[in-house]
Amino acid sequence: MLQSTSPNQPCYDALVVGGGIAGMQTALDLADQGYQVVLVEKEASIGGKMIALSKVFPTLDCCSCITTPKMSAVAHHENITLLTYCDVLAVEAVDAAIAEQGESVFTIHLRKKPRYVDEEACTGCRQCEYACPIDLPTAFDLGLGAQRAIRVPFSTAVPQKAVLDIENCLFCGKCEKACPHGCIDFTQTAQEFSIGARAIVLATGYELTPVGAKAEYGAGQLANVVSPMVVERLLAPTGPYGHVLRPSDGKEPDSIAYVQCAGSRDASLGIEYCSRICCMYAIKQAMLLSGALPLADITIYYMDIRTFGKGYEQFYQNARAMGIEFVKGKVARIHEDEAHNPVVRVELIDDGSRVVEQTHDLVVLSTGMVPAYNPQELYGVAVAEADGFINQPAPNLAPGRTGRTGIFVTGTAAGPMDIVDSIVLAGAAAAETAAYLQSKKLLVSGNGHHVTPEVELSYV
Ligand SMILES: Cc1cc2nc3c(=O)[nH]c(=O)nc-3n(C[C@H](O)[C@H](O)[C@H](O)COP(=O)(O)OP(=O)(O)OC[C@H]3O[C@@H](n4cnc5c(N)ncnc54)[C@H](O)[C@@H]3O)c2cc1C
Repeated sequence: MLQSTSPNQPCYDALVVGGGIAGMQTALDLADQGYQVVLVEKEASIGGKMIALSKVFPTLDCCSCITTPKMSAVAHHENITLLTYCDVLAVEAVDAAIAEQGESVFTIHLRKKPRYVDEEACTGCRQCEYACPIDLPTAFDLGLGAQRAIRVPFSTAVPQKAVLDIENCLFCGKCEKACPHGCIDFTQTAQEFSIGARAIVLATGYELTPVGAKAEYGAGQLANVVSPMVVERLLAPTGPYGHVLRPSDGKEPDSIAYVQCAGSRDASLGIEYCSRICCMYAIKQAMLLSGALPLADITIYYMDIRTFGKGYEQFYQNARAMGIEFVKGKVARIHEDEAHNPVVRVELIDDGSRVVEQTHDLVVLSTGMVPAYNPQELYGVAVAEADGFINQPAPNLAPGRTGRTGIFVTGTAAGPMDIVDSIVLAGAAAAETAAYLQSKKLLVSGNGHHVTPEVELSYV
């Protein structure tokens, strides 16, 4: 750990908040240049949403295969300190005159939540998990499978450390007996401490519009109307069943439909913007489903198909050529029949605006992106009134900048975007943070000395 600039408080060049792909990439880009970075993630593992995906458009690379090495690189980088299962409680700006002396510009108060496991000693051997008698719905597989009350969060989690769900623990002591290293500690409490950082990068990501947001689409009550993340888990090699099965009865679906713009471009939800990724993930999933279920009919009900990225239009054309049916139509309502088959009521725009009802085995709502976190209160960073994502006052010239000096933004915390754009913005945010640190002469070298830049830098 880096030397402290004030007693008992470690100090870093940059704090990155959020360990999804954008936060990880920003941390790596800064750390590779020699900056000391601390990455704080609220969950027990880094990886964000990307580690839960099956394959990625447009290349159809295995998502786990490309995300896990990044997670590992973050965990093992000598210039990155990783704090998982940790919340930022407060952020204080240090007086500017002190900052000029090279002291931390921000003091950050943190709380590390108890895992009830000695994190240093745990090797991730999972003996505690095998011994635990409690089965709960899996958080990582969105309730599709089962997990133990004590477990490593998922097979590719980083760090590979167990975490105990104390609320559901029986205190039977079986995990304690099974642990070869004596790691289990039922008395562990949250630890509060402070660190210093000269810059902050917000990488807090997104959530999906809840499936239950729209009453017309069943308000989340129809068993076979699911979120696209459920399909990602069903298709993933690390998924719960190894097959695509529908939730109500475990049947392989023969007819699957996608309802586009089910959580975006919708004034009734107050989400009027396009989420940019839904057309592409629906097309991707449709292609993967037709590989997994060659006899299934797959229909995508859409208003417009927006395939804006490099190679994306070709991806769409490939899906059409594979036989996936694209139907221009606005879905008005979904209900279910006695066998829990979703029945979609849709206006067929290219067929004289006829209104028909189509029955499917499974319906996927292409829900959109909403911000996961509002940093206004803690970080004093403004969000856009229109959508709640972090404001970028100079999106054309300095997209990583926020309205507050010294605080930067990366990935979907700034707005809906795919992985390609998240990686691009991560590079931009890292470059802008580095330029800022250099221009303010706030750089802390690996051994704790301040470095004065030899050239005048252009950060303003
Ligand atoms: C169904 C679906 C399929 C998709 N498929 C593709 C695809 O094939 N190709 C593609 O390019 N894109 C795809 N995407 C988009 C892709 O998921 C995102 O572009 C990408 O994951 C964004 O990464 P991120 O780091 O910005 O956000 P996230 O992955 O959301 O990461 C944010 C991280 O910050 C943490 N965090 C949040 N708040 C705090 C806080 N206050 N303190 C500490 N930590 C915090 C979260 O726990 C999380 O780990 C898909 C999206 C969906 C919904």
